[in-house]
Amino acid sequence: LSGCTITAYRSGKVLFQGKDAEKEAKRWDSRSGPQTPKEETPISRLATVSAIGSDEVGTGDYFGPVVVVAAYVAKGQIDTMKRIGVKDSKQLTDEMITRLAPALMDHLHYASVVLSNREYNRWQQSGMPQTKIKALLHNEAIGKLMNALPQKPDAIIIDQFIERNLYFRYLDGEQHVIREHVYCIPKAETVHIAVAAASIIARYLFLQELDYLSETVGIELPKGAGEQVDKAAARLIQTHGEAILHSCAKLHFANTEKARRIANR
Ligand code: MN
Repeated sequence: LSGCTITAYRSGKVLFQGKDAEKEAKRWDSRSGPQTPKEETPISRLATVSAIGSDEVGTGDYFGPVVVVAAYVAKGQIDTMKRIGVKDSKQLTDEMITRLAPALMDHLHYASVVLSNREYNRWQQSGMPQTKIKALLHNEAIGKLMNALPQKPDAIIIDQFIERNLYFRYLDGEQHVIREHVYCIPKAETVHIAVAAASIIARYLFLQELDYLSETVGIELPKGAGEQVDKAAARLIQTHGEAILHSCAKLHFANTEKARRIANR
């Protein structure tokens, strides 16, 4: 929590630290009776507020960039979003995404950040964990969108890839960090439709980037990180040399080594 860090030990001891430690500890003190809040839990209340949703795509794909999109859905737009079929992009085919995304991009405020493979590899090789890469990109996309928004959102909901405290720890030292009303929620696309909208736009932009990269390298680059990917990477090594992977692949994936082996057969 802001103002209090709670550490629970396996021994059963619970430690409260920080300026609001006393206040927070009191809430849990059995001597003062169980404190069940009367109001709805914050998460269930979030579904109907005006919110920014933020989601990333491409972190599990060997080829192609990482794309993070933050999208704003106002209260009054939620029903329309549901009606036109907005849901988690993982439940939609690429054809459905290609049909839906342009409409969303027309009607919603959104901001995107694309981290090219070259840059991704540079960050990764400097020792940056993928979770920090994601944190930086989410913060950047959200910041960009906030600057362009005519009004402040009630909530900023990040599809959780990391626990909230760690998210902010990764952002320590960054110049502009959006902190107010930020929630990191697992499966956030089921909590607020803005996250689902963001995931659809992100996936669409990723597919476009992958098409563009495919044209550049002269073969169709497959999605994911499976065997097809190993074979495609091996073909690239054979025709262009390994250096080409820097500009279109995430080098630290095991696919690089597998492709080398196939190429050298
Ligand atoms: Mn996600």
